Amino acid sequence: MHAQGAPKMQACSGIHRPTLRLYSQQHRLCVCRNSLRGAVTDEDRAYMRRALELAKKAEGKTFPNPAVGCVVVKDGRVVGEGFHPKAGKPHAEVYALRGAGNQAEGATAYVTLEPCNHHGRTPPCSRALVDARVARVVVGVGDPNPLVASEGMATLERAGIQVVIMDGLEREACYDLNKDFMERMKAAAAMAAKS
Ligand SMILES: [Zn+2]
Repeated sequence: MHAQGAPKMQACSGIHRPTLRLYSQQHRLCVCRNSLRGAVTDEDRAYMRRALELAKKAEGKTFPNPAVGCVVVKDGRVVGEGFHPKAGKPHAEVYALRGAGNQAEGATAYVTLEPCNHHGRTPPCSRALVDARVARVVVGVGDPNPLVASEGMATLERAGIQVVIMDGLEREACYDLNKDFMERMKAAAAMAAKS
């Protein structure tokens, strides 16, 4: 019999497996676990599709960054929307949270890509989401960038925010939107795992 409360580790087919394994050892939690996948609702899919639409407004204009969209929903109503327009400009989450203002508290944020967790040209979006006190974040797809990989989601979870990872067609669409970026970052993550 399993010890009570022992986390059940599941094989992870995630795109940043080496980092996830480290993450799992550290936190005894795999962010790709099926329980999270099961938590995706039809409503979540609809809002993720809206976030994808927003991301597509800057498709091909964000290099070297990925195109990302974000929607903030409170009580069944969209209270903030945003997308990353180009490198050097704020990230999608920043615009969406700005639009939401105080309404972000207790809201659900939909982001097409895992929120960044590192200080680049902008402060980390994971921090911005924590500071805005959102209750739940639905992530379209994990970011394989070694500087982000699972850390964005870990930061949210450590702050008590529920993190849900999209699955199915919407997840695929979130990946395909930035296919080049995802492949570039996967290669970088593989290099980092080797060293
Ligand atoms: Zn960001």
